[in-house]
Amino acid sequence: MYSVKIGANQSDPFLPRIYIITPTYSRPVQKAELTRLSHTLLLVPKIHWILVEDAAEKSALVSAFISNLLSFAKSIGHDLEVTHLKIPTPSNYKLKSSDPSWLKPRGVVQRNEALKWLRENDHNLDKSGVVYFADDDNTYDLRLFEEMRYTQKVSVWPVALVGGLYVERPLVSGGKVKGWNTVWRPERAFPIDMAGFAVNLKLILDRRKANFILDVPRGYQESFFLKQLLRGVHELEPKADDCSKVYVWHTRTEQPKLRHEKHLKVPSNDGIEI
Ligand code: UDP
Ligand code: MN
Repeated sequence: MYSVKIGANQSDPFLPRIYIITPTYSRPVQKAELTRLSHTLLLVPKIHWILVEDAAEKSALVSAFISNLLSFAKSIGHDLEVTHLKIPTPSNYKLKSSDPSWLKPRGVVQRNEALKWLRENDHNLDKSGVVYFADDDNTYDLRLFEEMRYTQKVSVWPVALVGGLYVERPLVSGGKVKGWNTVWRPERAFPIDMAGFAVNLKLILDRRKANFILDVPRGYQESFFLKQLLRGVHELEPKADDCSKVYVWHTRTEQPKLRHEKHLKVPSNDGIEI
């Protein structure tokens, strides 16, 4: 049966808060992605969304988006918290729009900026909370958030449409992770996508140096990060029915074709935010 705990639980003072870290960058679909993700988050109680722009300055678009979102959340009695940060990816690591997306790491310094913010603001945080790295373009089932909410150290689950597979997932036996079905770089210590794990907030606060690293081999971002938090896979907490259910899809949005804009004297979005 499908049931998501919203409503009554909103006011449960003991429900752990979920700190969602989302790197985001300016492009034609940015507001669409953020709108979709925010509407998912509005259906989940006790969320603190840390949105980190890949930019030197906070944009007017994201600032207005957050202010509208917060007033809407308030109007429906949702206690959403949002933190707006910014930090630009160093130019030598920044993807060009002509580059294939895998060429350079994405969202690395932004996720680190959010981790830094958590560590600097720990006095104001829900110490029973959990941290999840949610890219702006993935698709999330509401049940995912209830799976991760009571993470002791690091919890894991399947991610669909990633690593060249329908679903990439931990293999579980006797309630423990015993291996992975990963085909791409299976030699990684933790061969898992960013969307496939959540970390207990206290563990993030205790391991003050644990960070993402710009100069890791391609595909090793998650593994290098988790190695700083765990002694081995035996410490992982498998969720989603022993990792047999898909609650997150690594969807990617097609770049829109805007080829007719160049025929216009005035851009079609002149004075209109898209
Ligand atoms: N991202 C970013 N700056 C960039 C490219 C991506 O902040 O130059 C963000 C993006 O908005 C997303 C995350 O980093 O939240 C991962 O990027 P993407 O979804 O493009 O990666 P992929 O799906 O290819 O792994
Ligand atoms: Mn993506």
